[in-house]
Amino acid sequence: MKKHIGILLLTLMLFFTACENEITSATTVKGYEDEIDMVVKIKGDSITSIEITKHNESPFIGASAIELLPQEIINEQSLMVDAITGATETSNAIKEGVRTCLKNSGVDIKKFEKEVKKTASEEIEKTADVVIIGGGGAGLSAAVAAAEEGSKVILIEKMPMLGGNTVRAGGAYNSVDPERQKNVDPASDEAMESLELLVRGELKEAHIRQNEDYYKLYDKWIKELEKDLNTYKQSDKSHLFDSKALHIIQTFSGGDYEGNIELIEKLISDSLPTLKWLESNGMVWKENIATVPGGLWPRAHIPKNAAGRDFIETNKNKANSLGVEFIMDCKGKDLIMQGGRVVAVSAEKRDGTKLTLNANKAVIIATGGFAGNKEMREKYDPNLVKELGTTNSPAIQGDGIVMAEKINANLVGMEYIQCLPWGNPKNGSLNGWLGGIGVEYYYQVNTDGKRFMTEDGRRDYMTGELLKQKGAMSYVITDTNRESENSETNLWGDNIEELVKSGTVYRADTIEDLAKQINIDPKILRETHDTFNSYVESGVDKDFDRKLFGDKIDKAPFYASPRMPTVHHTMGGIQIDEKARVIDRDGKIIPGLYAAGEVTGGIHGKNRLGGNALVDVHVFGYEAGKNAAAEKVK
Ligand code: ADP
Repeated sequence: MKKHIGILLLTLMLFFTACENEITSATTVKGYEDEIDMVVKIKGDSITSIEITKHNESPFIGASAIELLPQEIINEQSLMVDAITGATETSNAIKEGVRTCLKNSGVDIKKFEKEVKKTASEEIEKTADVVIIGGGGAGLSAAVAAAEEGSKVILIEKMPMLGGNTVRAGGAYNSVDPERQKNVDPASDEAMESLELLVRGELKEAHIRQNEDYYKLYDKWIKELEKDLNTYKQSDKSHLFDSKALHIIQTFSGGDYEGNIELIEKLISDSLPTLKWLESNGMVWKENIATVPGGLWPRAHIPKNAAGRDFIETNKNKANSLGVEFIMDCKGKDLIMQGGRVVAVSAEKRDGTKLTLNANKAVIIATGGFAGNKEMREKYDPNLVKELGTTNSPAIQGDGIVMAEKINANLVGMEYIQCLPWGNPKNGSLNGWLGGIGVEYYYQVNTDGKRFMTEDGRRDYMTGELLKQKGAMSYVITDTNRESENSETNLWGDNIEELVKSGTVYRADTIEDLAKQINIDPKILRETHDTFNSYVESGVDKDFDRKLFGDKIDKAPFYASPRMPTVHHTMGGIQIDEKARVIDRDGKIIPGLYAAGEVTGGIHGKNRLGGNALVDVHVFGYEAGKNAAAEKVK
């Protein structure tokens, strides 16, 4: 008995000593979006737990550091672990917070500053039917489509998180959708007149006339549009006119007739079926259809919750349910050929571990564009100097283009790179502004408080006009419209209160107060504002010929979001056909290889319509996945 009491006492002593030794320390640090609260536990010389108790970092971006970094610090017992790529600021904030907690607990900080050595594991070889490189919108839809057909799919992603540029996108998805467009008001007389001009051929470009064969393909759609307009004229005209022909024509002419009309036909024809496929995977849209800036017509479907993120969440969950294998932190490096066919991918994990991934059926490249690669974008368009910010994820470096080029794939339209006039002046990112869900909800002024462009124009035109303004700086002015009045967040899911608190956007109850906050003469902004609202009423913009209007902007509080030009989308890349098969420099299909999404080129031409990229990514992602799954097993 005595012996048992002795053991019990000893155990209790050890327990209390251990508890006494465990020190808990809490702190708050400034993250990328907002403050991060954390609690760190230290026992003896070890960090035993790092708990992030509150944060507002963006899912798939900063939040990936919240998810991954604390465990890495604990595993290595060091603050010298690498920042999570793409989430550097959040990573640094976490490290700073842990450092503060360690200091406050009185431990020797030097013990936690030891260098971290990554050791590669043995080489890995895996086999699947379909191997996909890149886990953004195109890669995920390809993965779901191939897995739905019963294929075993491996998807490798170079970052620790999925999403690429898709997760950062505004989320607009263009599609003619008669059911939903029934609720959209008819377009103004001026807007309808511009369609008549298209039909009468007054807007045709001279070089189209020179290429008769190609022109015939285009002319077919002009005739279709004419028919559609006649049918509409005979209806009660109680809602918006739209048609597939119009969407095709606007996409082709909006890219200065440099796009591939056959690919455009595929893109637009499949936009509605793909939208329905996404819905069947779980995608939900907001109720109202709008015109995404640069989209030219009200046919943009806006994700219900948080812009591009909704596409990624939806297809990630679906892919998981279908058993797709994800290998994260794994960079695709080379395509392996055998007998003229692509049969495998060589890849490397962040710790240096090498992988060979064999594809029994096919490989799909879905690595996105190259706007995040400053050298590469400047090589193809010297105007895009390094100082210009970008909306892109740091992972978007043109890797897939380089890989494909090495095996003789043809590249098209590499010099066509799209900039946007809505970059956050601090970092070039696209989120963090308020402008409702489309062009109808705002106007944009320069630092003198004057409008300087039609806000419903093409993206290349609008960015060009912004570049002519003082410091290339502007403010988007909006009000408390029907989209924002009952919502705590903007289109991207950013918390509006936090945006105001952090000075990212300005808010005031009057236009005059708003003007003062952004150092604009209140009288000038008032005049611009009243004149703009008079154009909304008349439907005629006497200054810039804007055609798309919504309600008057008159419901306080008003908001101003500072915005600058930013590099956004690369229209050029790997040439594909309508089945998403890769074409080589001799015009032949490369067996066993597909490509989809921003890594491909030649679809949009010189300029891409806003709201067409997510269609491209999902239509051709689906196409690539389905066709890869249908390839005969080697
Ligand atoms: P898209 O819209 O065409 O799908 P995204 O930019 O959304 O393009 O996604 C591309 C994805 O590809 C990103 O998640 C990016 O991190 C990933 N990626 C880029 N290069 C590689 C590579 N070499 N290996 C694996 N993944 C890559």
